[in-house]
Amino acid sequence: MGTSAAFHLARLGLTNVILLERESQLGAASTGRNAGGVRHQFSQEANVRLSIESIKVFEDFDAIVGATIDFRQDGYLFLLSEPAHVAAFRAACDMQRRLGVTVEWLTPAEAASRIPGLLTGGVEAATFCARDGICDPDGVTMGFAAAAKRAGVEIRRGAEVTGIEVDARGVAAVRTPQETIHTRVVINAAGAWAGKIGEMAGAPLPIWPLRRHIFIAAPPRHGWGFDARTLVIDFASSFYFHREGANMLFGMGDPSEPPGFDTTVNWPVLEQIAPVAARRLPSLSDASIAKAWAGLYEMTPDAMPVIGPAGVDGLFAIAGFSGHGFQHSPAAGRILADLIAGRDPHFDLTPFRHDRFREATAGEVGVV
Ligand SMILES: Cc1cc2nc3c(=O)[nH]c(=O)nc-3n(C[C@H](O)[C@H](O)[C@H](O)COP(=O)(O)OP(=O)(O)OC[C@H]3O[C@@H](n4cnc5c(N)ncnc54)[C@H](O)[C@@H]3O)c2cc1C
Repeated sequence: MGTSAAFHLARLGLTNVILLERESQLGAASTGRNAGGVRHQFSQEANVRLSIESIKVFEDFDAIVGATIDFRQDGYLFLLSEPAHVAAFRAACDMQRRLGVTVEWLTPAEAASRIPGLLTGGVEAATFCARDGICDPDGVTMGFAAAAKRAGVEIRRGAEVTGIEVDARGVAAVRTPQETIHTRVVINAAGAWAGKIGEMAGAPLPIWPLRRHIFIAAPPRHGWGFDARTLVIDFASSFYFHREGANMLFGMGDPSEPPGFDTTVNWPVLEQIAPVAARRLPSLSDASIAKAWAGLYEMTPDAMPVIGPAGVDGLFAIAGFSGHGFQHSPAAGRILADLIAGRDPHFDLTPFRHDRFREATAGEVGVV
C-alpha cells in the first residue's frame, strides 16, 4: 500500500514524498508473506470495484509501472458446501455480473473437471472467474517502489516511525529514532501495525493482527496431475491451494487463533489442515512440506479497509485490508493519491470511511 500510494502520488507530480519503512527491506511484512491471489469475487460491491480497477493494472503492469509480475490468470474456483454460502455467493455473483465481471456458476462435476484430482464430495455449487489469478507480490511492491523512486520519491529503510506530532492545524511532523520530519500530510500504510500508528496521532483505528500460515508442499512422486495456477478455495473450511512453480502452496484459517503479532510457525495447524486437504486434494497427502511461514492479516470489524482521511487533519490511512489487500493496492493507491492531490477519485468511499465503525456496516463475507 505504501509503495502504491507513493507511485500514484508521483504520477500526479507530487514527488516531495518520503516513504518510511521500519525493516531493512520493503515488503517484509504481510505483502511478502501472502499467497499472491487476485480475484474479482468479493461480496461487497466496493471490493469488486477495487478489483476491477486493480486487475486492469496487473494485466498491463509492465506498460503502466515498468516491471514484470508473472500474473497468471488461471482463475479462482470457490467450492461451496453450505446452503448459506451458496445463497451469499449467488447474490454476489449477480452483483459481480452487473458490474461486468464474467463469473461462472458451476455444478460440483464441472468444478471437479477443472482440476484433475480435486474431490468435490459435499460440494453443492462452485463459482469460477477466469480473469482471477495469482501474481508475484514482491514484483508488484518492487515495481511500484522503483517507479516511485525514478520519479523522485525517497525511500528510507530501517526508519521506524515512533511518533507523530499534532498541532492545532493537524499533523505537523513524524518522528523516527534518526530524525523529525516536518510535514502536513501523513499516510498511514502500516498494515497490521496501522492501529498503532493511528494511536501515535491520537486517532486509533480498529485494526488488529491475525496470524495466518502458508505451507509449500514439494511435488509427490507422480506429480500433481495439473499445471494450472488456479486458486481453489473450499469456502466452508477456508482451505485453499494453488500451484506455486513445481510446488503446491496451501493454507487454511484457524478460528481459534487469537489476535497478536507473533509470526512464528505453529506446526500443529498443519494437523488441522491435513484431513481437509486429504478430502479435497488427496495428492497433497503424499507430498512432503518443503517450507512454511506465517504472516499477519490486518483485520477490521467488517473486513473492509480504511481508505482516506483518518481522524486528524492531514492524516490519511490506506490500511486494514483484512487479508485481501495485496490485490487491491493499485486501485487503493490511486484513489488515495487523488484524494491527497485534491482530485475527484470517482469512487464512492463510504464503505471505507474511518468513522464507519460506530454504525453497523455490511462486511465482506468473502474473507478466507
Ligand atoms: C498468509 C497470508 C496470505 C495472504 N494472501 C493474500 C492473497 O492471496 N491476496 C491478497 O490480496 N492478500 C493476501 N493477504 C493479505 C495481504 O498480504 C495484505 O492485505 C497486504 O499485504 C497488506 O499490505 P500493506 O501494505 O497494508 O501491509 P504490509 O505489507 O504489512 O506493509 C506495512 C509495512 O509497514 C511497515 N511498518 C509497520 N510499522 C511501522 C513503523 N512504525 N514505522 C515504519 N514502518 C512500519 C511494515 O514493516 C511493513 O513493511 C495475505 C496475507 C497473509 C498473511
